[in-house]
Amino acid sequence: MSRIVYVNGNFVPESEAKVSIFDRGFLFADGVYEVTPVVKGKLVDYDALVVRLDRSLGELKMSWPCTKTELRQMHEELIKQNKLDEGIIYMQVTRGVADRMFNFPKDIKSTLVAFPQVMKLVDNPNAKTGVKVVTTPDLRWARRDIKTVMLLPPCLGKEEAYQKGAAEAWMVEDGKVTEGTSSNAYIVKDNKIITRPISNSILNGCTRRALFRMAKEHQVEIEERLFTPEEAYAADEAFLTSASQFVMPITEIDGKRIGGGQVGPVVRKMRELFLEEAQKG
Ligand code: PLP
Repeated sequence: MSRIVYVNGNFVPESEAKVSIFDRGFLFADGVYEVTPVVKGKLVDYDALVVRLDRSLGELKMSWPCTKTELRQMHEELIKQNKLDEGIIYMQVTRGVADRMFNFPKDIKSTLVAFPQVMKLVDNPNAKTGVKVVTTPDLRWARRDIKTVMLLPPCLGKEEAYQKGAAEAWMVEDGKVTEGTSSNAYIVKDNKIITRPISNSILNGCTRRALFRMAKEHQVEIEERLFTPEEAYAADEAFLTSASQFVMPITEIDGKRIGGGQVGPVVRKMRELFLEEAQKG
């Protein structure tokens, strides 16, 4: 069955969805996006994503494509029309359609598209074994705090990881891990979670934010500081977070086993807390 997707106010079969070749998302990657997890047909942590979308749009001086109420209704309608039980809703806003010019065209309407993707979030088999990660240089621009669709460096990193039999690449800048190509990065040493502080160098993950809240509620210590790949190799545990993976254990980095190659207690606990909350609805 073909999906029903959303394009500028209309719900249409995916084969009929069209965006102009003059769209600035297509010509300049002049757009931002968000990914919302869906569990048991319900949006998870949706409000946090709207706050980040608002910030991304503001930083790029891009206008909202619709009201916040309409955006939520659109998400819920996509879930309903596609009978989505578990997966994600991807949404993208671009500056809109205009003749090709670098400066911002005046008075154009931003483009909004969205679509669902079925995924196993709760019973993701990778969570049982943990995933492999490789490190790679961080080739991205200086405003990684904005969630733009300009994702060629992350695509290169992810492809390198896949070619090496890994699931994710941790990007490294000045000898320190920044984050994964589509996730935030963490190590655990002596039961303490260590992760890079928020800055323009990484995306402020909504899952990261939820992790901080849950860690506080359950007296798990988090230290925000930079760490090197070498420190990660020697960590007790490692993991990543993202909207579509929640908390995902990492059992190998650059071919070196982490925590004897087993999923450790801290990451197991944090994933369980996440799943509990996500399934509550
Ligand atoms: N870092 C990067 C570069 C990402 O692309 C993502 C998600 O796409 C994340 C971190 C995790 O963010 P979130 O937890 O909001 O999905």
